[in-house]
Amino acid sequence: GLRMNAVTVRYGSTTVLSEVDLEVPRGEVLAVLGPSGCGKSTLLRTVAGLESLAAGEVRFDGRDLSGVPVHRRGFGMVFQDGQLFGHRDVAGNVEFALRMRGVGRKRRRAEVDRLLDLVGLAGYQRRRVRQLSGGQAQRVALARALAAEPRMLLLDEPLSGLDRALRDRLTVDLARLLSAEDSPTAVMVTHDLDEAFALADRVAVLHEGRVLQTDEPRRLWRAPRNERVARFLGCTT
Ligand code: ATP
Ligand code: MG
Repeated sequence: GLRMNAVTVRYGSTTVLSEVDLEVPRGEVLAVLGPSGCGKSTLLRTVAGLESLAAGEVRFDGRDLSGVPVHRRGFGMVFQDGQLFGHRDVAGNVEFALRMRGVGRKRRRAEVDRLLDLVGLAGYQRRRVRQLSGGQAQRVALARALAAEPRMLLLDEPLSGLDRALRDRLTVDLARLLSAEDSPTAVMVTHDLDEAFALADRVAVLHEGRVLQTDEPRRLWRAPRNERVARFLGCTT
């Protein structure tokens, strides 16, 4: 699983993450909640290896990740803004990750279909990425991340920008996927309490770069540690 010990990240003189301690046991899903600008994306990027630490350490399965570059970490990421290969079609984007895993051509075809079906994009194989809506692009990014069968999934608001119906459907699909046997350890950033509560084993509430509380959803709801947590839970429902 993942472990962050007293992680501090700064942009210049601004401290964006401040002594963050987090633990996500193998196979579990942690949701990170908090107001805009509190450091959620930075936290994910830090785990991914895209930020340098001012202090603290990030470990995975006991191993210190400092010095381990992004592509060697074996983590799958879905960023807030998609980031697909614009020169490939939808199938090509998903297939890329399968090819990296050494999946043979025939199985790749079937896997692409299965994954696109999973994210509600059956039939979009030949669509150009540039012609997709924001929400569709995000779902392709999710399919591509899943295709890599990562040791850990880092999801930055994977369902934002989708309409309610699609969100609800994908939440159910994601929940099934993330609770399956052998499912990857996952950290998911969201603004949506329902989503966090439906998907996460535990929820961390972040405020101005600090973790205010980490707990199971129901405990968090019943016993917020302080007024700020309570207010945050209250005002986002
Ligand atoms: P949102 O919910 O709006 O996505 P967030 O919780 O993901 O917000 P971050 O993107 O992690 O927030 O940003 C945390 C803080 O760090 C913000 O104040 C932001 O302005 C600042 N920040 C983010 N990236 C940089 C950067 N590259 N250089 C300087 N400051 C940055
Ligand atoms: Mg963000």
